[in-house]
Amino acid sequence: MVKFRQTEEILKIMRNIEQVRNIGTLAHVDHGKTTTSDSLLMAAGLLSPKVAGRALALDYVEIEQLRQMTVKAANVSLYHEWKGKPYVINLVDTPGHVDFTGHVTRSLRVMDGALVVVDAVEGIMTQTETVVRQALAERVRPLLFINKVDRLIKELRLSANEVQKRFIEIIRDFNGLIDLYAEPGFRDKWKVDPAKGQVAFGSALHKWGFTIPIAAQKGIKFSDVVDAYQNNTVEELAETTPLYVALLDMVVEHIPNPAEAQKYRIPKLWHGDLNSEIGKAMLNADPDGPLVIGVSKVVVDPHAGIVVTGRVFSGTARPGEEVYLVSARDYGKILQVGLYMGPYREVANEITAGNIVALLGVDKARSGETIIELSLIHI
Ligand code: GDP
Repeated sequence: MVKFRQTEEILKIMRNIEQVRNIGTLAHVDHGKTTTSDSLLMAAGLLSPKVAGRALALDYVEIEQLRQMTVKAANVSLYHEWKGKPYVINLVDTPGHVDFTGHVTRSLRVMDGALVVVDAVEGIMTQTETVVRQALAERVRPLLFINKVDRLIKELRLSANEVQKRFIEIIRDFNGLIDLYAEPGFRDKWKVDPAKGQVAFGSALHKWGFTIPIAAQKGIKFSDVVDAYQNNTVEELAETTPLYVALLDMVVEHIPNPAEAQKYRIPKLWHGDLNSEIGKAMLNADPDGPLVIGVSKVVVDPHAGIVVTGRVFSGTARPGEEVYLVSARDYGKILQVGLYMGPYREVANEITAGNIVALLGVDKARSGETIIELSLIHI
C-alpha cells in the first residue's frame, strides 16, 4: 500500500506546522502564472520519487491528465526538501487574473505568501500592481519571480550586463510597490533582496531558474545563461538549476509558516476579541483550539459531489463534527475530511490548524464562508 504510506508521511509533516507553507501565484495576464504552476507540479508534486519510495515514471497521458486536474484543483500540495528536511507546500488556487470581484481576496485569506510572476520584458504592469497591493492589504508576503528571461536574450538580444540591469529595474519597481502599499511594520521587512534569495530569475517555459545564492553555490553566472541560449544547452541549465528548486527553496526560507503568519494575520482577518479563547487559538494556530475554517474555494467533483477547500485557522477538522456556516447562517456536518496529494484528494482522519483541508458534507458553503464549531455560535 504505497499510497497509504505516502499519505501518512504527508500527514506527519502537516502536524508539524513549522514544515508547512501556504502560498499562491499572482501575475499580470500572460506573464506566466499557469506555466510556472505547471512546472512546480510536474517537478515537485507529491508523487515525488522520494515520497513514493520508488521512481514514478509518468507517461505523457498521465502528465496531461495531471495538468488538467491541476487547472481545476482548488489546491495542489507539493513536497519539497530543504536543507535535508521535508516540507509540504500548499499552492492554493488563485483566480487566473484579477477580476473585479473579491475572488483574489478569498484566496489570499488562506495564503501567507505569494509568488508574483513578472515577465522580464514587460516588467511590472497594472495587474502586477493590483495583486501586490491586494496581497499586502491581507498581509500576504509577496516574493518576486522574474520570468521569461529567455526573451531578454533571444528577442531583445541583451548582453549579460544588460540583462542584469533589467533585473535591477524590475526589482526596484517591485520594492517600490512594497514601499507604497505595505503597512509600516512590513515595509522594510518585506522588501526583496536578491542577495538573500528573495528573487528568482528564470524561464518557466524552459524550466530553469535560480536565486543569487543558488547561482553562487552552483557557480553559475548570468553570462552562462546567455551562452546556454546561444549554444542550445538550455536543457542542461534546467537540469543544473531547475526552476522548482529555486521557487520552493525561496518559499520555504522566506514565507513564514502558518503559526508564525497567523500571529500578525489574524488581527487583520478577524475583528473579534484577540484575548478570547478563540482569538488566542487562532493567533497560535492551535490544533487543540475551537474549530475555525476559512473557505477559499468550492468545486463540484463528479464523483464526490461538493468539495469545500479551506484553511483550518484553529482546531482540528474531523469527520462527524457538527458545524455552523457563518455567512450562510446554517448548520452543517462534516462528513469527510481530506488532504491534497498533488492535485488529488485523499481521505484523512484529521487535519490540524494551519493546513489546507478538503471537506465533504458542508454543501451550503461558498468561497469566503467561515465554518465554525457549534460552541462558537454565540461569538
Ligand atoms: P498566465 O496568463 O499568467 O497564466 O500565463 P501563461 O502561463 O498562460 O503564459 C502565457 C504565455 O507566455 C504562454 O504562451 C506561455 O507559453 C508563455 N510563457 C510562459 N513562460 C514563459 C517563458 O519563460 N518564456 C517564454 N518565452 N514564454 C513563456
